[in-house]
Amino acid sequence: MEKILVTGGCGFIGSNFIRLTLAAFPEAQIINLDKLTYAGNAHNLTDVASDPRYCFYNGDICDAELVDKIFCDEGINTVVHFAAESHVDRSISSPAAFIQTNVVGTFTLLEAARKAWSGKGEKCRFLHVSTDEVYGSLGEAGLFSELTPYDPRSPYSASKASSDHLVRAYHHTYDLPVLITNCSNNYGPYQFPEKLIPLMINNASHGKELPVYGDGGNIRDWLFVGDHCEALLTVLKRGMIGRTYNIGGDCEKLNIEVVRRICDLIDEMAGPLPSGKRRQDLIRFVEDRFGHDRRYAIDAGRIKSELGWEPSVTFDEGLRMTVKWYLDNRSWYKAILNGSCGPNSEQLFAAL
Ligand code: NAD
Repeated sequence: MEKILVTGGCGFIGSNFIRLTLAAFPEAQIINLDKLTYAGNAHNLTDVASDPRYCFYNGDICDAELVDKIFCDEGINTVVHFAAESHVDRSISSPAAFIQTNVVGTFTLLEAARKAWSGKGEKCRFLHVSTDEVYGSLGEAGLFSELTPYDPRSPYSASKASSDHLVRAYHHTYDLPVLITNCSNNYGPYQFPEKLIPLMINNASHGKELPVYGDGGNIRDWLFVGDHCEALLTVLKRGMIGRTYNIGGDCEKLNIEVVRRICDLIDEMAGPLPSGKRRQDLIRFVEDRFGHDRRYAIDAGRIKSELGWEPSVTFDEGLRMTVKWYLDNRSWYKAILNGSCGPNSEQLFAAL
């Protein structure tokens, strides 16, 4: 774990991972390759930017020449691959970027690793960070295990499924030392405000309407981002090469339950709205997303029993910390709305 190439390190999970890794491993050196798309924000890592163990390349994972050069110049022996287009709604309106980054970008990294690590496989690791959405949608019962057949339903999940297949193929064909994780929905600090939890926190704190898809009955299995990052470090340290690990929080919630809980937390922390109304009164049900998967839930038995990982933050604790973080860091959100590190507010709200 000396020279770690983190792709997409300026995004939500990548920035939390870099911060945790630098704090937990004094010997770790992190090379962050990020294209700074609308979702990437260099300010997410201001606190570690001057750490001599951290360096940043502003570039594209699809740029084979650049990726080869980074592997060679930096002596990369570990890859933690987060970089992706990650928002399902955007994949429905503009799928091309998802195929390019998620499929072609992953292929470019695999090729670079294959060339650079030829004969050194023992000491190297390629950890591909993927999603539970590759498994499709569940009915009222059942859980996704590592043996669940893939059944992606959106351009986003199909592009992630394709990348998982490529990573697995590079292990079987070229003996590349890969690990794959499929994780459920994350929440926590630094998540771009187009996703459900930060969107609701920010709208509710400003007294704006809270648009909830369909009847609000979609179910997601929520995991605090810090627990996901700990799981990734566990898989890097102790995971079996070539193996897939599902990661989840055993924490199924209806979307509407999550939104109501956020409203109550903001009423408690920020006080009532000037009108005296409760924030739950801001909830509006809107037309459902095309092909909206109804339920995701993860069986995380393998990573728990084989590697000893357990989530440490309950949903109540994690949501409280997250709401507090967004309320305490309004300048972070404002900078995104102003366009100084992301889209301007018009573009952002067009994407919601
Ligand atoms: P994010 O959208 O917040 O961040 C993605 C990052 O990748 C951004 O910094 C962006 O600038 C960068 N990027 C995009 N295209 C790039 C390219 N071509 N070259 C280099 N950098 C590029 O995403 P996230 O929520 O942090 O998710 C990270 C990974 O975790 C993704 O692969 C996603 O599929 C997976 N995942 C996310 C969740 C979740 O709930 N957020 C759950 C499971 C798995």
